[in-house]
Amino acid sequence: MKQLKSLLLTLIAAIFLAAGCAAPPVVPQQSASPAAIEAREAAGITTPALDDPSVKKVGLDIDDTVLFSSPAFDKGYEGAQAYTDEFWTIVNRSDEEVSILKPKTVEIIKAHQQKGHEVFLITARNNSGGEALKKFMSKTLDIPESNIFFAPSGKTELLKELGIDAFYGDSDSDIRYAKEAGAIPIRILRSPESGYKSSYNPGSLDEFIVPDSE
Ligand SMILES: [Mg+2]
Repeated sequence: MKQLKSLLLTLIAAIFLAAGCAAPPVVPQQSASPAAIEAREAAGITTPALDDPSVKKVGLDIDDTVLFSSPAFDKGYEGAQAYTDEFWTIVNRSDEEVSILKPKTVEIIKAHQQKGHEVFLITARNNSGGEALKKFMSKTLDIPESNIFFAPSGKTELLKELGIDAFYGDSDSDIRYAKEAGAIPIRILRSPESGYKSSYNPGSLDEFIVPDSE
């Protein structure tokens, strides 16, 4: 009987301990409460752009940075000749159904918004059918549609025009555009499942790499 009682007590203590040690959930919030900032830091959401007081405007690439969008590209390849207007229309209209938001990048966007930074999305996609992508990104990430740009022939000039202080991307070209425009270059890791394999040498341009951002 005594043994049973001590076993029960041990069990109850273990349950309380487990409950007390559970990691605090990271809940995206609209305003930067001290608790939200603590939660962000505890979750390892730190990049040079979040910790630099001179940063006011940040930009992000979309494919393999904000979205795992290979499934949308697969739909394009199935339905049209690659890189035609018809192809881009299929891709841009497929994301909401088949692309997947990258959780680490979403947390980074929320953290910038909590700091009051202006967030822009700049993709190298063609803008055929692009309204669908804009609407999807805008409602999902709380970014105005007017802050979402298609730049198929390079991003450097646009980054300069918009006054972007830091730019996140998965491709070497994103890191180069950022450097050319005088923005802080930050690498988001590409998923190994991505269908896109070119222009990818993380760390080769001395850029900061966001850990666990695949
Ligand atoms: Mg990309």
